[in-house]
Amino acid sequence: MTDPACIFCKIAAGEVPATFVHEGEQLLALRDVRPQAPVHLLVIPRAHVASLCEADRDHRDLLGEMLLLAAGLAREHGLATRGYRTVINTGNDGGQTVHHLHLHLLGGRALGWPPG
Ligand code: AMP
Repeated sequence: MTDPACIFCKIAAGEVPATFVHEGEQLLALRDVRPQAPVHLLVIPRAHVASLCEADRDHRDLLGEMLLLAAGLAREHGLATRGYRTVINTGNDGGQTVHHLHLHLLGGRALGWPPG
């Protein structure tokens, strides 16, 4: 399923350029255009799921694969020793601005808590 108005669906379709660090059958990972840390990657499903609110048990494998891909990318990008943060912003109060499920992987510096 795709949403023609969705920027991440357009990226998945090759209609909008992106810097990919992973291109799999189900999942893509790309560099965030406005990085908040030295490493800031986004893990997104190719299929359109608006947010974690829309996920159900049918998305169990997809969600697990997103986390495992993030952990693998963290290792590849040298983040595993010092650590990193994975974030899924959900809905307006959660700060979600792109309404296509995505997981942020941030690392390469000490990240404060709580995030602003
Ligand atoms: P969120 O605020 O959690 O919805 O995160 C959306 C993220 O997508 C932000 O960190 C944006 O910088 C990033 N973003 C928006 N458009 C693009 C794009 N075309 N390519 C890469 N990252 C993007």
